[in-house]
Amino acid sequence: MIRTNDPIQDFLNYDYEQYLKEISRPVCCECGDYITDEYLWDFHGMYYCEKCMRDHRERIDD
Ligand SMILES: [Zn+2]
Repeated sequence: MIRTNDPIQDFLNYDYEQYLKEISRPVCCECGDYITDEYLWDFHGMYYCEKCMRDHRERIDD
């Protein structure tokens, strides 16, 4: 990160870097959130976050 001798500018730079990091993340097509987990589910180019996949998981009883 770029450091200046201005603490406010430093804070803004940090915020901006976090923002850039976030918008480069894939977006979950179910909840619309940025996927910040280590894994995502990719179904033919549709991304799902772990939480949404867990919501869709169903138990199969024999
Ligand atoms: Zn989701």
